[in-house]
Amino acid sequence: MSAHVAVVGSSNLDLVVTASRLPAPGETVLGGNFRTVPGGKGANQAVAAARAGAACDFVGAVGDDDFGTRMRTSLVDAGVDVRGLRTVPGPSGVALIAVDANAENFIVVAPGANGTLTELDADDRATIAAADVLLLQLEVPLPAVTRAADWARADGTTVVLNAAPAATLPTELLDLVDVLVVNEHEAAVVAGVTSDDPPVLLDALLELVPRVVLTLGARGAAYADRHGLRVTVPAPRIEAVDTTAAGDAFTAALAVGWAERGAAGGEGAVTASLRWACAAGAACAQRPGASTALPDRPAIDALHDATYRGAP
Ligand code: ADP
Repeated sequence: MSAHVAVVGSSNLDLVVTASRLPAPGETVLGGNFRTVPGGKGANQAVAAARAGAACDFVGAVGDDDFGTRMRTSLVDAGVDVRGLRTVPGPSGVALIAVDANAENFIVVAPGANGTLTELDADDRATIAAADVLLLQLEVPLPAVTRAADWARADGTTVVLNAAPAATLPTELLDLVDVLVVNEHEAAVVAGVTSDDPPVLLDALLELVPRVVLTLGARGAAYADRHGLRVTVPAPRIEAVDTTAAGDAFTAALAVGWAERGAAGGEGAVTASLRWACAAGAACAQRPGASTALPDRPAIDALHDATYRGAP
């Protein structure tokens, strides 16, 4: 039986222009190619979960503009169930992105419709209750994130929170999290510590939540829980072309792996889920682009098997 993941989160259209250099304030530079790419951490992780083989529902909001139609279509094309995606009056969320020849960028995000997702309804609750895992990020208003987590807890759905973008979090939300997924920067911000030492970060975060997954870029990922289990998994060795969305691919695959195996299997299940998530993150980093680079299940399996086959 395939895993069932519900995502409550953001969807943006990324408006991306390349230029030989970024403009100074007040300056105009002539750019190169322009492209529009569906993005937003919520939508990216929903698409990633569906590509990774899960039945996936997305609860979010787009505007009543052409961008909203585009984003809805891209989710549907990926096989995501969008019954929980509202179309609200006004503009969709957009990210204005300029990238120079050295891959330096500047990004301005206008949340648009995402900012209207302050309340959830009974249909959303049923969607969350039917899922094995609820996957959350921090790009929609906190009251909706907290409400979703609260319902998930009450109805027996596992809550996985990807604390991105980095923010300090209220106890009210932290108390509802089953698994926190963070990169090193997010870990330091959530924990309120200055260390970049993974064991220190994990210890600090276990004061706040029962289970933590820390992503470590090319070094892989680490897991710790309050039962004293610690697992570290190396990342596949790959030629990284573009690590944008690698965190989204990782987080979604972790949620899918967790939904398929649960943590009931202890160390074996945790290790398996972490390896599979690392394979997803690395497979994403091997390809240019963000949401367009999110790997499907065969690609994740292939890199997973090539990397970890024979490992204990
Ligand atoms: P974020 O993109 O959120 O900062 P990371 O950089 O930690 O997160 O990447 C998330 C995951 O993607 C890592 O845990 C790893 O599994 C995979 N990954 C990212 N960069 C690389 C890389 N250069 N080589 C192999 N795997 C990578």
